[in-house]
Amino acid sequence: MEKKSKPPFYVTTPIYYVNGVPHIGHAYTTIIADTLSRFMKMNGRDVFFLTGTDEHGQKVEKAASENGLEPQAWADRVVVRFMDLARDLACEPDFFIRTTMELHEKGVQKLFLKLLDQGDIYKGEYKGWYCVPDESFLTEDVPLEKDGTKICPDCGRKAQVVSEETYFFRLSAYQQKLLDHYASHPQFVRPQSRMNEVTSFVRGGLKDLSITRTTVKWGIPVPGDPAHTIYVWFDALHNYVTGAGYDRDPAHFEKFWPASVQLIAKDILRFHAVFWPAFLLASGLPLPECVFCHGWWLKDEAKMSKSKGNVLDPYVLLKAMGPDPLRYFLLREVPIGLDGNFSHEAFIRRLNSDLANDLGNLVSRSLTMIRNYFNGTIPEPGPEEPADADIRKAFDETRDRAVAHYESYTLNKSLEEIWAFITAVNKYLADNAPWKLHKDPALRPRLARVLRTAAAALRGTAVLVAPVMPGSAQKIWEYLGEPGTVRDIRFEGLAFDSPGLGQAIRAPEPLFPRVDLQAFLAEETIPAKEPVMDEETQKSPEQPPATTGSSRTTETAEPPVKPLVTYEEFARMDLRVAHVIEAARVEKAKKLLRLKIDLGTEQRQIVAGVAETYSPEQLLGKKFIVIANLQPAVIRGVESQGMLLAAVSGEKAVIPFFEADVPAGAKVK
Ligand SMILES: [Zn+2]
Repeated sequence: MEKKSKPPFYVTTPIYYVNGVPHIGHAYTTIIADTLSRFMKMNGRDVFFLTGTDEHGQKVEKAASENGLEPQAWADRVVVRFMDLARDLACEPDFFIRTTMELHEKGVQKLFLKLLDQGDIYKGEYKGWYCVPDESFLTEDVPLEKDGTKICPDCGRKAQVVSEETYFFRLSAYQQKLLDHYASHPQFVRPQSRMNEVTSFVRGGLKDLSITRTTVKWGIPVPGDPAHTIYVWFDALHNYVTGAGYDRDPAHFEKFWPASVQLIAKDILRFHAVFWPAFLLASGLPLPECVFCHGWWLKDEAKMSKSKGNVLDPYVLLKAMGPDPLRYFLLREVPIGLDGNFSHEAFIRRLNSDLANDLGNLVSRSLTMIRNYFNGTIPEPGPEEPADADIRKAFDETRDRAVAHYESYTLNKSLEEIWAFITAVNKYLADNAPWKLHKDPALRPRLARVLRTAAAALRGTAVLVAPVMPGSAQKIWEYLGEPGTVRDIRFEGLAFDSPGLGQAIRAPEPLFPRVDLQAFLAEETIPAKEPVMDEETQKSPEQPPATTGSSRTTETAEPPVKPLVTYEEFARMDLRVAHVIEAARVEKAKKLLRLKIDLGTEQRQIVAGVAETYSPEQLLGKKFIVIANLQPAVIRGVESQGMLLAAVSGEKAVIPFFEADVPAGAKVK
C-alpha cells in the first residue's frame, strides 16, 4: 500500500575537489549516502541523492597548466575518477553535479546578485594571512611564528599576506539568527558534540566573509564585475541547491529542498554548519534538516608499512572483493559520527566471520539442503513448532528495529540487529539439525518446515541488508527463486513468509569467499586500478613500480601462476614498442621517472617506478614494451598514459629492452 504522506528524502555528499584523488574518505561518505538513499526508497520515499565535484580554484588552474591543459580539460579528465568510484562502489546518485556546469554557474550568479542587491554582499578591502594551497585566509587567532610569518593550521604550510579588493558576505549579521536556529533545531548538526562545537564558535563572534578573488581566474565571474571570481565556498556550497533544481526546475526544487541530510566530514563542519545556513538565511531559502558530520578513517600505520602499498586506496579492496564487503565493513565497524581505525586485520576478520561465515554459510547450507533433500522445491511443510515461531517473531522484531535505526542514520546498529538475527537462524539450524531429520523419511514434513523457515529468514535478511549490500542481497533473492528485484520490495508490510517461498532454483555460488589474511597482505603491494596518491596526505610510502600485475611478489614465496586467460582476453591488451624521447625524475618521488615516449602515431607521457634501477639518461633512446590502452592514472600529480613492462625483483624494476631496430608503435603479440 503506497502511503503518499511520506515526505521526499534528499541526501547529499560534499562535492569532491577534482584536484584530490579518491580515497577511503570519499568512498565512505558516498557509501553512507547511497545506503540511506537505497533504504529510503525501500521505505517508500521519493529520494534524490546528489554528489559531484568541485572544479574551480587556484589548485585546478595550477595542475592544469602543469599538465599543459586548460582547466576545463583537466577537470574533464579527472572527474572521471570520482564518477568511476561511485559506480565501482555500487553507488547510484540521482545526479552528479559539477561546479563547472552552466546550470550551477547561473544559479550561483543569480544568488550572488540577489544578496548584492539586498546589501548582504558589499565590496571592500581584505588584507590577511592567506594559505595558497588551501585557498583560504587564516583566522585571526592563528599566532605569529618567530620569523613573523603565520603557518596554516590546516596544512602546516607557510601562509602569505594578501591584500585585495573583495566582495564580503555580511556574515556578522547572521550570528544571532544562526544561534536561534541551532537552539530551535537541536538536530541541525549531528552528532551532538559537533553541534556544541559549532554553537560555541558562533557565540565567539562572526566576521564578514570574503567571497570573491581577483587573484583566481578559474572560477565563476562576478556578474557585472568580471575582474572578480566567486570564491570557493560561495560557489561550492550552492551546488546543493543548484543540483536540486534551483532557478531551473522549480517543481523538483520545491519537492526536494531543503535537504533531509547533508553528509560531511569534520574538516568542513564550519563551512556547512555556519556559512552555508547563513547564505541560505540571506537568500530566504529553507535550511537543511540535518548536517551530519561523520568521522575519519585513520590508517593503521603499522600495517601500512608492512604491506607497502597505499592500502587505503578503495580500488584495491574493490578490485579484490567487489563493493559489498567494503560497504558492510565501513558501515558496521564504527558509528557514523566517530573516527574509525582502518586495518586489514579488522576488515578481513569481518569479511570472514560476519560475511563468509555467518551469512554466506547460512545461504549456501540452506539452499544446498533444499536442493539436495527436496530437489529445489520444498513440499507442504509440517505444523509450526515453537522454535519456528521464535524465528518468525525474531524476524518481525529485527525488521522493526533495523528500520528504525536506518531511519535515524545509525547504520551500524541496524547491521548489528540484522546480524543478531542471522546468528539466531544459524543456531536454529544447528538445534534442529535438518541433516539428521533427513535420515528419517517419517520426518520429512518437519524437515520441510525447518528448511522453509530458513528460506523465509534468508528472504527477509536479503531485504534488510539490501541498502548496504545491494549486489549480495539480489543474489540471495535470485537463489531463492524470488521474482523481480529485491530493491523493489518495501519494508512496510514486509512479511516473514511469502507465497513462492521454498524454492532453491539456482545452485548458490559462495557469496563471500573467505580471505587468508597473510596472502591478502602479501598481494596488496600494487594498487589495482588507479595508482593515485593524494598530495595532501603523502605520508604514505612511495608508489610501487608501475609494472604489470603479474609481477606481484612476496618476500617469502614465488607467486603462484594466475588462472588461465583466453587468447581473446590477452588480445584486449594493446602492447606496443615505445621509444623514449625524454626522461626526467618526478619531484620528491625517488622511485618515479616521467618518460615521454614515441608510439609511432603519437607521443605520450608515462610515469614508471624504475628510478632506483635507471637514471633518466640511461633510458633516453631505449626501446621497450608498453601497454598502450591502459586506463590513464595520476601518479604524484603527474598523468601516466600507459605503462611499461618490467620485471620486479626486490626493490628493483628491470626493463626488457629491444636490442634490434624496431620501429616505434610496432605491435607486440
Ligand atoms: Zn593550508
